[in-house]
Amino acid sequence: MATRRDYYEVLGVARGASEADIKKAFRGLARRLHPDVNADDPAANERFREVAEAYEVLSSDESRALYDRYGHAGLGGRAATSERPAGATNLGDLFSMLFGDEAFGGGGSRSGAMAGADAGAEVQITLAEAAFGVRRDIEIEIVAPCDHCGASGAEPPSQPDRCGTCGGSGSVQQVQRTMLGQMVRTGPCPTCAGRGVLIEDPCKVCRGAGRRPERRSLGVTIPAGVDHGQRVRITGQGHAGQNGGPPGDLYVQILVEEDARFRREGTDLVTAVDLTMTQAALGATVTVPTLDGDAELDFRAGTQPGEVRVLRGRGVPALRGGRRGNLRILVNVVVPRNLSGDQKKLVERLDQSLAERNFREESEGFLGRFRRARDGG
Ligand SMILES: [Zn+2]
Ligand SMILES: [Zn+2]
Repeated sequence: MATRRDYYEVLGVARGASEADIKKAFRGLARRLHPDVNADDPAANERFREVAEAYEVLSSDESRALYDRYGHAGLGGRAATSERPAGATNLGDLFSMLFGDEAFGGGGSRSGAMAGADAGAEVQITLAEAAFGVRRDIEIEIVAPCDHCGASGAEPPSQPDRCGTCGGSGSVQQVQRTMLGQMVRTGPCPTCAGRGVLIEDPCKVCRGAGRRPERRSLGVTIPAGVDHGQRVRITGQGHAGQNGGPPGDLYVQILVEEDARFRREGTDLVTAVDLTMTQAALGATVTVPTLDGDAELDFRAGTQPGEVRVLRGRGVPALRGGRRGNLRILVNVVVPRNLSGDQKKLVERLDQSLAERNFREESEGFLGRFRRARDGG
């Protein structure tokens, strides 16, 4: 497969382009490149698909943000080929949504075969599973080919008959006036409703549809480094097509559970560690959580609240390349709230001792003189 072009470049807009600019650019290109205007130009068709795919991604705030941040990889395999724009929309939907009419045939093919729709599912995983990848079995309800009739729609042993009106192609040509002027439009055959076949004795299981709903269990491999809201595409596991059309794809939306210990920032993780006042003052070895298990970390005497320790390579792997980010550990110093009488006396003694030492240390220096002058001492 050729390398994929930048979506902004495809639409010819700047990265910071407004929603309106993106829509305008898409409309202009779509009018010029639409397959019904360029029926015999495969290059234009290919380009139209590319443009539609770019528009679908950039017109949604969510997918645009993912794309801006992670590029094509951020879409989680979504729209991974230019075979068809990603998601539930097909070209026809996209076009009639934009132009508000049915001037164009859209995604329907010329042979009566129709691609199946894409299906969706959700999977909830933990942060560690998102970081290291996981395999999950999911249950989906999809429209599958009917076993009983072998997807033909005709009750065995009968067979569907070829439609005489369209000769089995499922489509007929009509001349139509549209907003772009007069054009020849290929539309579904009225006799067979675009199927290309007529069924005398419909299948008793699927009532002639050739497809029926089915619950299916499916193993899904979720790649390491995936983030909340991304989608994993599983090619060909969507709803069955019609009349020999290919099945749609399955999009599995990833939901990453909140983690009590870590906050994720891209490939970095952030956590906090509590040191007691005395641990911070005297230094201590403290257990900190990491995605790879607990780690012992030494804090030197005089560790300050707000200090950040960085454990390199203990973050989340990048979806592409697998390079792991860092774990940042923020130090919090816990000040005791309810001191007993004895403890209070100890702290007071400490306070006094510190004050004396500070006075001695600083009395000779500039800071000491400055403080005495300020305090009137
Ligand atoms: Zn027909
Ligand atoms: Zn059937």
